[in-house]
Amino acid sequence: MKVDCEKLCPEWPCEQPEEFKNVWVLIEAFEGFISEPSLQMLTSGRKIADKLGEKLVGVLVGYRVSGFAEEIIKHGADEVIVVDDPGLETYYPRVYAHVIVSLARKYKPSVILAPATKRGRELAPYIANTLKAGITADCTDFDVDESTKDVLLIRPPFAAILLAFIKTPFRRPQIGTARPNVFPIPPRDEGRKGEVMYENVDVKLEDKMKLLSRKKLHRAEVGVEKAEVIVSGGRGLGSPEGFKLLENLAELLDGVVGASRKAVDAGWIEEYRQIGQTGRAVKSILYFAIGISGAAQHMIGVREAGRIIAVNIDPEAPIFTQSDYGIIGDYKEIIPALIEELKKLKEEGPKALEKYKST
Ligand SMILES: Cc1cc2nc3c(=O)[nH]c(=O)nc-3n(C[C@H](O)[C@H](O)[C@H](O)COP(=O)(O)OP(=O)(O)OC[C@H]3O[C@@H](n4cnc5c(N)ncnc54)[C@H](O)[C@@H]3O)c2cc1C
Repeated sequence: MKVDCEKLCPEWPCEQPEEFKNVWVLIEAFEGFISEPSLQMLTSGRKIADKLGEKLVGVLVGYRVSGFAEEIIKHGADEVIVVDDPGLETYYPRVYAHVIVSLARKYKPSVILAPATKRGRELAPYIANTLKAGITADCTDFDVDESTKDVLLIRPPFAAILLAFIKTPFRRPQIGTARPNVFPIPPRDEGRKGEVMYENVDVKLEDKMKLLSRKKLHRAEVGVEKAEVIVSGGRGLGSPEGFKLLENLAELLDGVVGASRKAVDAGWIEEYRQIGQTGRAVKSILYFAIGISGAAQHMIGVREAGRIIAVNIDPEAPIFTQSDYGIIGDYKEIIPALIEELKKLKEEGPKALEKYKST
């Protein structure tokens, strides 16, 4: 279908959608690490690229990042575009966005995916606005409309009971973000080969921001997303004191404390611990939901978690239909009992585990 772009939006006529090719994933790498959430986006990128019959391209922008190009290919990219420049050592959003926009104007990708990390949440809208393209944030899935070849950017709308399938048929590139841990990292294929293209972009651009100092994040600020054990509390805890109890349990299990939005909104716990649609998505092996009802917006954040253990006073609470183990009762009685039992187990050592296995 030929789109009359000038008629549709006379201010910003764009080229025809067919002129845009390949699926880009913005890869974050800094301080010697490649970010896992951006590698996770390669899973969605691969799915879209295969359905469109296009290439999957990793876009790596930063300083001393070239070494990660092969790693991106091993995780499924066909090509990697690298801009490695000392001027990119400090992350300034305007400069990084300028680099990516310059590349997008040159290569014309049909799709740009970014992880909804702090950087991704900042860069993706900036890029979308500069390119006058649409953006769908916090997608939970991606697909392709087979008849039109438009990408379907899928996410829960406001009330989260439905799924919205969003497409931007008249603008390119189609831009979407997804939060960390919604998708797995594609398996590493040691023998996989691909092309690495190096580009130079002028980065001597004044940013209104200036880096004044760096602050080391609290362990939990980075911890919830990576934790193997999370002990989360909700409004059912009734007060901030309830979280002290959860901290004791989390400590015994080498885990971290998480929370529902209601607990965060009540001011009982820090916002960075919120799990769910507007919080973080987690992939812990064990997830305790204590005094949490199990609303869809909370459960979306634990989709990738392993075993869910719920403690709730209400036998009818929806959380019990979504958990692997459920304990009905008042958390004020159950959690101290659990803590006591765990302490005993720790004192008894490995023998205690044998006892459990045989019962
Ligand atoms: C756009 C949008 C985005 C949202 N994003 C998020 C999000 O990211 N994360 C999120 O969590 N929510 C989110 N919400 C809110 C969500 O809809 C729910 O309101 C919220 O998750 C409920 O929190 P809760 O389970 O702690 O509280 P409640 O629903 O009030 O549940 C409290 C539970 O505690 C139990 N309880 C009470 N006393 C005890 C006791 N003594 N012992 C044990 N159990 C007890 C009760 O039986 C109840 O089941 C969002 C909502 C919207 C509209």
